[in-house]
Amino acid sequence: MSEKRLTIDYEEFASVKGMTAEDQQLVAQCLEAQKGSYSPYSNFQVGAALRLANGVIVKGANQENAAYPSGLCAERVAMFWAGANYPDVPFDTLAIAGSDHGVLCESPASPCGACRQVMAEYQKKHGRPMKVILVGSKRIRKFACVDESLTRPAPSELPQGRNAARVGGRSGAM
Ligand SMILES: [Zn+2]
Repeated sequence: MSEKRLTIDYEEFASVKGMTAEDQQLVAQCLEAQKGSYSPYSNFQVGAALRLANGVIVKGANQENAAYPSGLCAERVAMFWAGANYPDVPFDTLAIAGSDHGVLCESPASPCGACRQVMAEYQKKHGRPMKVILVGSKRIRKFACVDESLTRPAPSELPQGRNAARVGGRSGAM
C-alpha cells in the first residue's frame, strides 16, 4: 500500500476586478441567469452561463418541480441546451453563481457530482479543456479545466464514431 495525494490548482479573485474582460462578462451573465431560476422549494437560485468556442453564451437556471427530482440544475440546463443546439461546438468556459433567498453566497456554490460528471463528459467529447468559474460575493474561483473540480470522473469510453454515425446516418429519436 502507498498513500497518494491529490492537489487542486485554481485561481481565486476577491471580485471580478483582476479578471479578464471576457470572464467579467461571463460572470455578469451567470448572475443575470439567476433571474430564470424556478426554485420555490429550495429558495436557492442558481445561474449558469456557458461560453462556447464560437463566442455564443448560453444561460441556464435551476428548475425545480414538486415531483422531486424531476427538476434540473442550472449547469445542466445550460450544457444540455448547448449540446442539443450546438452539438459540434466545444464548451469554453462555464460560470456558476448561487444565491440563497436572493442573496449571493459569500463562498461560491459548487456544482453537484452529477453536473461535474456531465461537465467531464462534454470536455472529453470535445477534446479540449473547459474552464470553470465559481462565483461568490466574497471570492471567485477559476479552474483551468474540469479535471480540477472533478478529479476522478466515472470512466466514459465514448463509442468511437458515435457523432459521425448520428450526423451521417441516423436521424430522429433513438
Ligand atoms: Zn448539479
